Amino acid sequence: MPDPQVEIVVDLDAIAHNVRVLAEHAGNAAVMVVVKADGYNHGAAEVARAALAAGAREIGTTTVAEAVELRAAGITAPILSWLNTSDADYAGGIEADIELGVSAAAQLAAVAAAARELGRTATVSLKVDTGLNRNGIPAVEFPEVLELLGKLVADGTVRFRALFSHLAMADEPRHPVNDRQRDRFLDFVAAAKEQGLEPELVHLANSAAALTRPDLAFDMIRPGIAVYGLSPIPEQSDFGLRPAMTFRARVLRVKRVAAGEGVSYGHQWIAERDTTVALIPAGYADGVPRPLSGRFSVWLGGARRPQIGRVCMDQFVVDLGANETGVRAGDAAILFGGESGHPHAQEWADALGTINYEIVCAPRGRARRTHLGGDR
Ligand SMILES: *Cc1c(COP(=O)(O)O)cnc(C)c1O
Repeated sequence: MPDPQVEIVVDLDAIAHNVRVLAEHAGNAAVMVVVKADGYNHGAAEVARAALAAGAREIGTTTVAEAVELRAAGITAPILSWLNTSDADYAGGIEADIELGVSAAAQLAAVAAAARELGRTATVSLKVDTGLNRNGIPAVEFPEVLELLGKLVADGTVRFRALFSHLAMADEPRHPVNDRQRDRFLDFVAAAKEQGLEPELVHLANSAAALTRPDLAFDMIRPGIAVYGLSPIPEQSDFGLRPAMTFRARVLRVKRVAAGEGVSYGHQWIAERDTTVALIPAGYADGVPRPLSGRFSVWLGGARRPQIGRVCMDQFVVDLGANETGVRAGDAAILFGGESGHPHAQEWADALGTINYEIVCAPRGRARRTHLGGDR
């Protein structure tokens, strides 16, 4: 098959490296690798396999559907799913031995109904709200949930696996909100134990907390973005992580543009001198955000080349300058990647006023994803 014009290349050896970095920070705590949203667009099954081979013990997803897909792909490690409506396919989750994260009494009842119908025990974790005020069981609803859980555990409908919560401000490690969430978390754990409901494990830390707050690691850390090699606190450090994703495209053509000529829609860029430009066949339909127009560069022909004019749906143009560069049609342009000198996803995030998470989730459309390295 000929090389596609636009590619997402995911380095599974970088994933393995990042898991080892995280495991070092985790101390005695286990590592659950979060592969929601198709592994932050890196390929959930491939990332899960590489991460487990590198020492991760568990896998985290949002929906039951994502979790069941990983089972179908042959992942046998524990998989937790934590964001589901009450009418989610809990039966499918129970049959696939997925650990179901529950955030409300009604959800717990729905899980129990599915378990009884199947004649199987459901594995349940309680997600508690310690201050994010998004998903999670609020403290006022916790007694009701515990009462129901107590009955379901007693009659064998449910196995109570874990109690967990999610941090709101972990990217500001010293912010007192983190300590308040820890204290509330411990209150939830104590309340469960008082009802005779002892979780097998408790977990709280996302990437930022895993890397900066070892005191919040509890029994397991739950990193996402750091697994993919991007820093959860870029202004603080890269934490020795290696970006796993390279977004690249092949030059479609190289041409001369005369001084005074405008390039791309709206002629937002006018050549000040005779120059050579390269046409890159990737646009906003492929995950190159249009607001980046004129504000990024690609690695091409051994140097950074500024992007000029508007980014279009299918293509954009870079300026190669007045002198001969040797760049030819078919050459690979790195939009962002992990090698030093190459543009970094963080640069796009900074230019757009967003976070690196959104940047790696963007490549799509015609971009073909392939994987390198790892145990595939
Ligand atoms: C997404 C998510 C994580 C991982 O967060 P990162 O900031 O990517 O490390 C952990 N836990 C929950 C509940 C999540 O939704």
